[in-house]
Amino acid sequence: MAGLTVVSGPSGVGKSTLIQRLRQTRPDVWVSVSATTRAPRTGEVDGEHYFFVTLEQFEQMRAAGEFLEYANFAGNWYGTPRAAVAEHLASGMPVVLEIDLEGARQVRRSMPHAQLVFLAPPSWESLVARLSGRGTEHPDVVARRLQAARTEMAAQGEFDVTVVNDSLDEAVARLVSLLGLPEASST
Ligand code: 5GP
Repeated sequence: MAGLTVVSGPSGVGKSTLIQRLRQTRPDVWVSVSATTRAPRTGEVDGEHYFFVTLEQFEQMRAAGEFLEYANFAGNWYGTPRAAVAEHLASGMPVVLEIDLEGARQVRRSMPHAQLVFLAPPSWESLVARLSGRGTEHPDVVARRLQAARTEMAAQGEFDVTVVNDSLDEAVARLVSLLGLPEASST
C-alpha cells in the first residue's frame, strides 16, 4: 500500500545519489522537496532539489506550522513542507522523504505508520573512506563528520529496515520494492 517512507542514514552514505536515481527512474514515486537555509551547490535547482529560503522565510514557515518535521544539520535549517506531502499521499502516490536522523525521529512520533528505511554503507571502513576521501577538508572537519557518522550509525536499530548501499541499482530496486511497487517502472 502506498504511504510515507523516510530514507535516512549517515552523511556520506550516498543518500542523495540514491534519491536522485529514484527521481530519474520512478515518476510513479513522489519525492518531497525540502526547504533549506543552506546555499545552493553548483547544479542545484530551486524548487527541484530544494526550496532555497532565507532564515526569515524558514522561521515564518516554521511558526505557521508548515513543516511536517524540521531540523538543523551542520548549521543550516531543513524542513519538509507538510501540505505537499499530504496532497500526494491523498492522491495515492508513494511518498519518500530523504531527511536526517532527527527528522526521521520526528516523523516516527507524528506519523507512526510511516516506514523508516536506514541506508547503510557496506562497511564502516567504506564510510570512513568516503568521508575522508574528498581530500579537501581540514582534518578537524573530517573528525567531526566521523563522530556524527558514528552517532548516526548507532541509530540503525530505530529503523524498520536497513538497505545496504553496495550497488546503486540494487539499492534503488530494494527501496522500490519496499514502496510496494513492481521493480520495472510502469511508465
Ligand atoms: P545536504 O545539505 O547535504 O543536501 O543535506 C544535509 C542533510 O540534511 C542530509 O542528511 C539530508 O538528508 C538532510 N535533509 C535534507 N532535507 C531535510 C529535511 O527536510 N528535513 C531534515 N530533517 N533533514 C533534511
